[in-house]
Amino acid sequence: MIELKQLTKKYGTKKKSTTALSEIDLQVGKGEIFGVIGHSGAGKSTLIRCINLLERPTSGEVWVNGVNLTALGKGDLQKHRRKIGMIFQHFNLLSSATVYDNIAFPLTLTNTPKADIKKKVSDLLALVGLEDHKNKYPAQLSGGQKQRVGIARALASDPDVLLCDEATSALDPQTTDSILRLLLDINKKFNLTIMLITHEMHVIQSVCDRVAVIHAGGIVEEGPVTEVFLKP
Ligand code: ADP
Ligand code: ADP
Repeated sequence: MIELKQLTKKYGTKKKSTTALSEIDLQVGKGEIFGVIGHSGAGKSTLIRCINLLERPTSGEVWVNGVNLTALGKGDLQKHRRKIGMIFQHFNLLSSATVYDNIAFPLTLTNTPKADIKKKVSDLLALVGLEDHKNKYPAQLSGGQKQRVGIARALASDPDVLLCDEATSALDPQTTDSILRLLLDINKKFNLTIMLITHEMHVIQSVCDRVAVIHAGGIVEEGPVTEVFLKP
């Protein structure tokens, strides 16, 4: 589902550059929950942002669902990006839009008929348990509720893959667990492929099938979570 081939990302100029990622090879299968863990500065967010080409890799290839995204032109890339959902540490919601409108937003970009949007958003509100909050604004929600909106918005375009960028790092432990349970439910219900990055071991141990440990831009260990980390 996701395949990275010799992925390298350097920031800066040729003369003075930082290598954030160095020749990463990685495969994530359909329906898998794959975690990437590492300390601050290891290259996690660069890695996840290269998958939907929010960051353009310096070299190497990114394949998602059989398509080489790194070879696409702007128009095709935009189309394929819709099939890659993403959620963020700080939720990235539109503060002047209601919960409903935040979730509907990706659908309005593709000229989806209003009745279809309504059906889709109400299904998603039910899925994330926010039916009673659809007319609220983000500022009126708790952190966990905001992330539920983020998840619903990411699912609105029926993605092949969900990327989670430190999605629970701003949440307290109890809320973290409820968001992780929701991600597990969604993974099972839709056989959705999920890739997440985190610096928290607990997150990896509670939901991931496989894990890669990243250090200084390279993968130093990779395998089933139960083999890489002994469960407590
Ligand atoms: P992590 O997410 O694991 O904290 P990052 O991917 O943010 O790691 O960073 C990896 C390396 O790339 C670090 O050395 C960081 O300083 C550098 N880096 C990240 N983003 C940029 C940028 N926009 N410009 C220059 N260097 C960057
Ligand atoms: P129904 O509305 O018939 O009960 P489901 O319970 O299967 O349908 O799905 C709930 C909502 O999630 C629907 O709007 C559906 O279109 C949407 N959905 C289905 N598959 C996916 C997927 N792979 N990713 C995200 N959302 C999906």
